[in-house]
This record gives sequence, C-alpha cells and structure tokens, in this order.
Amino acid sequence: MEKNQIIELEITDLSYEAMGVAHYEGMTVFVTNALPGETVSAKILKVKKNFAFAKIEQIIKESPDRVNIKLNQWVQTGLASLAHINYDKQLEFKRNQVVNLLQKAHLDNVEVGQTLPSPEETGYRNKAQVPVREVGGQLEIGFFRRHSHDLVPLTNFFTTDPEIDRVLVAVRDVLRQYRVPAYDEIHNEGEVRYLDVRRSKATGEIMVILVCLHKDFPQLPKVAEAIKTIEGVTSLVLNYNPKKTNVILGKVDYLIFGKPQITDQIGDVKFRISPESFFQINSLQTPRLYDLAIKKAELTPDDVVVDAYSGIGTIGLTVAKHVKSVRGIESVRDAVKDANNNAEINDLHNAKYVTGKAEEVMPKWAAKGMKTDVIFVDPPRKGLTPEFIDAAVKTGPKKIVYISCNPATMVRDLQEFQKLGYDFNRIDPVDMFPQTPHVEAVTVLERTKK
Ligand code: SAH
Repeated sequence: MEKNQIIELEITDLSYEAMGVAHYEGMTVFVTNALPGETVSAKILKVKKNFAFAKIEQIIKESPDRVNIKLNQWVQTGLASLAHINYDKQLEFKRNQVVNLLQKAHLDNVEVGQTLPSPEETGYRNKAQVPVREVGGQLEIGFFRRHSHDLVPLTNFFTTDPEIDRVLVAVRDVLRQYRVPAYDEIHNEGEVRYLDVRRSKATGEIMVILVCLHKDFPQLPKVAEAIKTIEGVTSLVLNYNPKKTNVILGKVDYLIFGKPQITDQIGDVKFRISPESFFQINSLQTPRLYDLAIKKAELTPDDVVVDAYSGIGTIGLTVAKHVKSVRGIESVRDAVKDANNNAEINDLHNAKYVTGKAEEVMPKWAAKGMKTDVIFVDPPRKGLTPEFIDAAVKTGPKKIVYISCNPATMVRDLQEFQKLGYDFNRIDPVDMFPQTPHVEAVTVLERTKK
C-alpha cells in the first residue's frame, strides 16, 4: 500500500473518533467520513506499519444512515464530525463505545443503558471558542480543518446557540471595521487569537471574551463601544495570551465593561461563572445528566457528600439542600471562588469548596480521618489517579457516583475500585455533545464490604 493509491474499501466499523474502518491486505484503513456498510473508493493519504489513513474519492454504495448535511465543512473541520450520521445512529455509536470497552475489560455482566438523547440536536452549545485568522487578506472567524491549522471561514457553527453565532459574526464585523489585525500564529504577531462567546439560556446574558496577544491595542476603546451596542451583550473581557501556544485562554483577564461573571441557572440553583471556570456546555441536557447522577446516589439528609472535580460547584450545590454537608475540590482557583460565592448567593451554608488537585486533597482528608457517605467524581478526560481512588475508598463512602467524559479512563478506574471492594452493574451514556463523537457516561459504585 502506498500514498496516493486509490483502492476500493468496504467499511465495517466506526472508530472512536468517528472514522470509517476498513481492512485491506492485512492493514486497517481509517477513512474520514466513511460509514459502516458503505463501499467507497478511497485515496491513501498516509501509511504506517499496520494501518493507514485515507479519504473518500467516491461513495460507491451509500449507507442508509448517511444524512446529507448542508455544510460539509462542519464535518471537514471536526466541529461536528458525526453530523453525517442520523441522530439515532449517533446515539447507538456512543452506546457501542461503552459496550466495546466493557467487553475488552471482560466486564460482561454490566448493563449499558440506551444513550440519553439531548433535547436539542443542534444549536445546543452555550459557549463557542472560535479562532480568528486572516484568510485572503481579510479577518475571518471559523474552524480549523481537521489535523491542521488552516482556517475554514464559517458564520454558522451549527452546534452553537444561534444567538452566539449572531454575536460572533457581529464582533467579527467590528474587528474588520476598526482594522484590528487577526493573530498570525507563525510569527506570533497580530492581535485577536480567538473569540470566546458565552450565553446563559436562563438569563440571556452574553459575555464576549477577546483572546488577544497584548494587554491592550490602539483600537480597543472604539471596539468596546461598538461591541456594547450588539444586542444582548452584557460583558466584554480581554483575555491576555502572549505565548506561542495552542492553549486557547491566557491566564489573565481584564474586564472592559459589564459584569465580571455571567449568571446561569440549573434547576432552582443560580450560578455565577467566571471566564476561567468550567461550565457544562449543553444547557438543557446538564440538568438531565445531574438528575440521573443524583438518583443513583440515593442521598439521605444525614449524608456527608464530596463533590470532586467540582468546577463552580454545580453538582454539590444542586444536592446541598438534601444532605448534611458538601465538601468540594477543584483545581482552578477562580472556579473555587465561584463555587463558594454560588453557595452563598443560594443560601447553601453547608457547602465549602477548596482549591487543589483532587489527587492531593483527598489523601489529606483521608489521613485526617474524614468519613464520607457519597462521593461524586467528574474528572477531565484523563480520569482519576490511583492516589485519589485509594483515598476516596479510605473515607468509606457507601456510594461513588462517577460522571465521565471519557469512557476508556472510566472503565479503567472502575476496575481499580472493584479491587478495593466496590462494584457496579450499569453504565448510562448521556449525549451531551450531539454531532460529535464525544461520549459522556454515568455510573454508581457501591460498597460490597460492610
Ligand atoms: N463537575 C463540574 C465540572 C466538571 S469538568 C460540572 O459538572 O460542571 C472537570 C473539572 O475538573 C474542571 O473544572 C477542571 O478545572 C477540574 N480539574 C481538572 N483537573 C483537576 C484535578 N487534578 N483536581 C481537581 N480538579 C481538577
């Protein structure tokens, strides 16, 4: 097999990144945008030892699950790399990811629920972070073509709240009008690197964050005046990111006008969210995810609860009224400030959050003899560490509710808990990210030893 060769392939599977999978002369070939059941003629792009990457030249036999989306760019850019499959099949794809991981781990007795569909299949995101670059002599917003930094100009971001798209385009036009240069990542020059726009569905507040190479630029006062007139915008923040890096946000924020936080609401609890804090992006699906997690916890009024990887305290503060106390751990200082402030504005005086790494704080708590009843964990993609798992178990919880955005590390961690006297019998996938391959899942571990 060699580069640029054109071959006919039968697609038999979808990889976890949503690439079509085919087998050809002992090689596994990953074909972008191809679907199981399809026959395609494909061009080989890259050859490795046992596998290769290819792209579709022509679809010879099309899958009945293929949907013809208006803008092929959404799939091309990886903004919505599952968008070419109908929604029911997307849900099935996500469930299968979990089933396959359990099979590999020989956990055959675990039931996997049907993926909980998102109330909105498009336009569900309450936040967009889009790169700003110069394309053809003009400042553009858009998304990078997959595996590259070529900007594909876009004005409709498909998975984002249309109100956010409207603001993104309006801000782009302001930047063009005042000739603010786009960021040039090759020379680390120019000015605006990203536009980050967030909107609260509950209050309608909109925060615009200009991610800039400098703390200030000559056109800023005029740009700010113009952004103030865009309907719905309640704050403007300049995020200072001077480094040559792919990390989107820098560490310092300057409030240019409006409120320093945006206010949102989950159930009957209000949340103020700072620019550096994590907040779940699918506003309508988040309460459904939490409901599922909280049901599994079967909380009682005497429970001592830990909310680990807490963000701004959304899970802990949702349950605080129904339990004895909540202790939260989160590594981002601003998020912890938000969490404690959110406890206060909601009159939840039994909840306290601390800044630190969960894998360091939990062992300290365990060493001090802390006892817990229920621990919620909601870690980033890399999952938990053995230190955290050990310490969590030492505090003796009846239940550990695990919310995960990466089922691979979740299954790994669940097996660790099993070795320490905890067991689980069901995982429920929840679709937080329609049109993308991301899988969210929830499970509860219960103590098997007395
Ligand atoms: N439970 C929250 C946040 C989940 S996202 C919610 O539902 O909104 C995961 C959070 O873990 C992020 O806020 C991130 O800043 C935090 N985090 C990442 N690594 C961490 C670590 N080692 N210790 C504690 N928190 C961490």
